[in-house]
Amino acid sequence: MSSVLQDIRNDFPIFSAKENEGLIYFDNAATSQRPKCVIDAVSDFYKKNNANPLRGLYGLSMRATEDYESSRETVSKFVNAKESSEIIFTRNATESLNLIAYAYAMENVNEGDEIAVSIMEHHSNILPWQMVSRAKKAKLVWLECDKETGVIPDSEYQKINEKTKIVSIAHVSNVLGITNPVKEIARIAHKNNAVIVIDGAQAVPHFKVDVQDIDADFYVFSGHKFLAPTGIGCLYAKRAILDSMSPFLRGGEMIEYVTRDTATYAEVPHKFEAGTVNAGGAVGMKAACNYLEKIGFDFIEKHVDSLTGLLLEGIKKIPHIKTIGHPDYSKHCGIVTFTIDGVHPHDIASILDTEKIAVRAGHHCAQPLGAYLNLPATARASLYFYNTEEEVNLFLEKVAKVRSWMGFKED
Ligand code: PMP
Repeated sequence: MSSVLQDIRNDFPIFSAKENEGLIYFDNAATSQRPKCVIDAVSDFYKKNNANPLRGLYGLSMRATEDYESSRETVSKFVNAKESSEIIFTRNATESLNLIAYAYAMENVNEGDEIAVSIMEHHSNILPWQMVSRAKKAKLVWLECDKETGVIPDSEYQKINEKTKIVSIAHVSNVLGITNPVKEIARIAHKNNAVIVIDGAQAVPHFKVDVQDIDADFYVFSGHKFLAPTGIGCLYAKRAILDSMSPFLRGGEMIEYVTRDTATYAEVPHKFEAGTVNAGGAVGMKAACNYLEKIGFDFIEKHVDSLTGLLLEGIKKIPHIKTIGHPDYSKHCGIVTFTIDGVHPHDIASILDTEKIAVRAGHHCAQPLGAYLNLPATARASLYFYNTEEEVNLFLEKVAKVRSWMGFKED
């Protein structure tokens, strides 16, 4: 292992914990691990600056507010928002998508309208639109991908038309790892006067996202997938759209003035952050953004790509293993999903666990994709920049033995 990689791994206490000796963590698409600087930032916030932000008129609360708002500023620069008020802190990508569905779509989608989603969406980016289309008698339109490569062919985008009000699509699929051409999709959506919602949960950890360059109307992501704590996520939206929307949740801190019968609301972003906010989480997200920028996306992309190549090319050579998605490893964003003939994916994960290898198995919260590909369950290895070549080689060695451990006699 290179000294650069060793230094990176030393930043992550979980890898040196006695409980995790020998652990190969290949479930990064489910959640990443946290570097010490993020853990320390959260801990320091509670040790030194904790008070209820945005409320108190005393020094400690002002420091908490400053920490919280400076985190918003950092995250806003991280995804290149035009202004920090375009970043709303939520619990996660799921909550962000529900916020859009309830506070934007329920107001702007009407009977006969269409909402376009892709077949590879995570359930978080399907269920809110099912709810809206049912409530509003709108039609949910599915953009399908090529079954071999996962690429959505250009002809599918012709389903976006003047009836389409919302196009909601993953930037990167959590099953196929494929990156969708969101800038081009945004252009098609806008040409048809639709808004584009991008689920960036799997993209933000892996490469530099520029919401202005994409011309995203909404862009959502979860902190825990890019080194930040759980329970903190983001909704980016263009300021004019946020200004036009009603609140999602109502309560403390999101108001301007309340009478017995009425309320006026605070300005964006606070209009969308009802109740006591997760300041510790936001501070952790700020530390995560700073850490990722220090490591650099150039390094992250190059290293993850090279490990993905090793893994995908290696696993393809093992008899009885089939991989899902594009044949070219550089289209996988660290995700390699596979099946082993005769072995249920849950058994693959359980057997690998006995070898201290953590992979995900099941439907990956993308059951419409599983049904479309006729693969209700698969196993998924997902890599991040702190993984190593040694881990990939060990994984390949172990995964090649799964069938024989299950009692299959190979000829
Ligand atoms: N979208 C995608 C593409 C995801 O991979 C995930 C998490 N697996 C989500 C949305 C939902 O993220 P969260 O559970 O953090 O809300």
